[in-house]
Amino acid sequence: MSRPVAYNVKEKPLEKPVTMAEMPEGYQGEGFFATSLNKVICLARKNSIWPLPFATSCCGIEFMATMGSHYDLARFGSERVGFSPRQCDLLMVMGTIAKKMAPVVKQVYLQMAEPRWVMAVGACASSGGIFDTYSVLQGIDQVVPVDVYVPGCPPRPEAIIDGILKIQELVENESIRRRNSPQYKALLESYGIQ
Ligand code: SF4
Repeated sequence: MSRPVAYNVKEKPLEKPVTMAEMPEGYQGEGFFATSLNKVICLARKNSIWPLPFATSCCGIEFMATMGSHYDLARFGSERVGFSPRQCDLLMVMGTIAKKMAPVVKQVYLQMAEPRWVMAVGACASSGGIFDTYSVLQGIDQVVPVDVYVPGCPPRPEAIIDGILKIQELVENESIRRRNSPQYKALLESYGIQ
């Protein structure tokens, strides 16, 4: 005789009501809303960031937890994780990057289309971490420009989410033409990227 199986089907009440993305600044009246193209594009980009997880070790496990139902990165529009650089706009480097792996990180970055952002997750990706050795890259900013660093060894999922929010702030507030700015071009040139 089989035992009866109890399923947890009770609905959990929402702690906070689900909110919509905030409207950009603009002018509104009866039947119209006007704002700048820059704000609309940045609003859309901010809430639909597609991450490319470049996970090489333990920090990647924290990212898996971040994607799980408890932390639920989908709340920020970033549940569409992709392993095709051409379709992603946020490179998340998580874990120890050996010097042999550095050209691969750069190659993945080069294959991503603009606009693209980079997040160094954890001490290893940010600075080599505890591995101050001949074989480990002492920070991915030696090969690609980094927008946000997430500290910790490993960072908790809350810290990774905080990093995503910082990226969202950047995406929301920068001009859609920033990538054409002389400063950005000079930054890329300093990495030998055209
Ligand atoms: S920062 Fe710590 S947890 Fe993350 S990959 Fe390095 S050793 Fe592992």
